[in-house]
Amino acid sequence: MTTSNGSLEGKVALVTGGSRGIGAATALRLAREGADVALTYVNGKEAAADVVRAVEALGRRALALRADSADAEEAAGAVDRTARELGGLDVLVNNVGVGVLGPLDGLSLADVDRVMAVNVRGVFLASRAAAARMAAGGRIITIGSCMTQLVPGPGGTLYAMSKSALVGLTKALARELGPRGITANIVHPGPIDTDMNPADGPSAAGQAGMTALGRYGTAEEVAEMVAYVAGAAYVTGAELSVDGGFAA
Ligand code: NDP
Repeated sequence: MTTSNGSLEGKVALVTGGSRGIGAATALRLAREGADVALTYVNGKEAAADVVRAVEALGRRALALRADSADAEEAAGAVDRTARELGGLDVLVNNVGVGVLGPLDGLSLADVDRVMAVNVRGVFLASRAAAARMAAGGRIITIGSCMTQLVPGPGGTLYAMSKSALVGLTKALARELGPRGITANIVHPGPIDTDMNPADGPSAAGQAGMTALGRYGTAEEVAEMVAYVAGAAYVTGAELSVDGGFAA
């Protein structure tokens, strides 16, 4: 992992879905850069507590919030609680996402509503709440997907639709918040080894084979890009891929 340059010293960050996977790696990476970090989770209370302890061990303040992104009040409420308890909000990382894959006729209305509530509505509401709290220098960073750029086979309709909505949201946020000195960017991971997409899963060899580098990425490799964007003043409205060349 790249060494910290302390670029986020004195900043407060909220990472949604920060108890595992890309979110946990991001929470730790932002803390290494100097930020105090809040994170949300739903089921993983113990895992969230572990991340809190790891952030505190780096000398930063940390806060675990049980907040379901599928719930409109909780999605926005996590932003407000972070600002209240950590004294402001400088960086929002919209990391939470659920992957429901499968053929069109196998997707229920409940699947459609859940994926759109978590992956899209929750991100919109958290971003709006964050924009209301942020001063100049604020950063909204959303985790998209390489499937906004290349859908490698059948079964991705719902997931690709939800993640593609975030590209439009990001560009529109960049335009709306730019005059206030707030940036909005989207990071597109490729196949990343997490509980959602384990590198030893049934489709893993195929996914790795789709990348130019021929391998899965790590959560830390995505976190590195998020940390870069969190410290970058003149990057906004951008789509940044960390996908090993999946979409090349
Ligand atoms: P994981 O499933 O490994 O982790 C998900 C995290 O989000 C956990 O901390 C989980 O908490 C939390 N979470 C899940 N649902 C909710 C919810 N409704 N409200 C609040 N928190 C929730 O996911 P990844 O780390 O793999 O993925 C992170 C992001 O990256 C997602 O947006 C995903 O779509 C995207 N992505 C991932 C790729 C991959 O290959 N892994 C590829 C492209 C994009 P808890 O423990 O409480 O359940």
